[in-house]
Amino acid sequence: MELDFSKDNGLLPVIVQHWQTGQVLMLGYMNSEAFVKTVASDQVTFFSRSRNRLWTKGEESGNFLHVKKMYPDCDNDTLLILAEPAGPTCHRGTSSCFDNDEEVPFLFRLEAIIRDRYDNPVEGSYVNRLREKGLNKITQKVGEEATETVIAALAQGREDLLDETSDLVFHLMVLLREKNISLAELGDHLRKRHK
Ligand code: AMP
Ligand code: ZN
Ligand code: ZN
Ligand code: ZN
Repeated sequence: MELDFSKDNGLLPVIVQHWQTGQVLMLGYMNSEAFVKTVASDQVTFFSRSRNRLWTKGEESGNFLHVKKMYPDCDNDTLLILAEPAGPTCHRGTSSCFDNDEEVPFLFRLEAIIRDRYDNPVEGSYVNRLREKGLNKITQKVGEEATETVIAALAQGREDLLDETSDLVFHLMVLLREKNISLAELGDHLRKRHK
């Protein structure tokens, strides 16, 4: 990859995006040394303008950004990195430095909400009730909602089908959480089948 570091005193802007959800996580700058270190380590390393030194994101917090893919722009003076974050990217503890959680596709947000209910149970939570009732209850609900989806598709209207499909997908997502399968893993699995 031939990057053009000549335009801004040897610094090149770098946009970091979540490799699965596409959420923009942060923007930083690299000099050529930071880029070389990023490529060698597969951890995003910036040149910190405030500290005036190389900064591997996560070096103190452990919240590294693991490089999945890198794309230079049309004239090689900006870099887009798709990364898998080891934790919150922002020092405030949020996933992104921009408050752009709403830009994440809702299925991924729902996955995060279900995961959060599992990790921090809430009074009156339906997810937590399902979990307490256990795997048999969760699988039974998936079966019921699948049947209702089929009935809606065959004999009811579009709104009913949307409702029942939503029920099905939601309960399926609870089942996936129960079995520790992430949407990312599901996506990978589907991608591998795609020839
Ligand atoms: P870290 O690289 O995550 O170990 O964080 C080291 C230090 O860098 C923190 O104490 C913050 O001062 C700063 N910092 C961490 N993450 C960010 C970020 N996303 N944007 C700007 N500064 C950050
Ligand atoms: Zn450009
Ligand atoms: Zn931040
Ligand atoms: Zn239903």
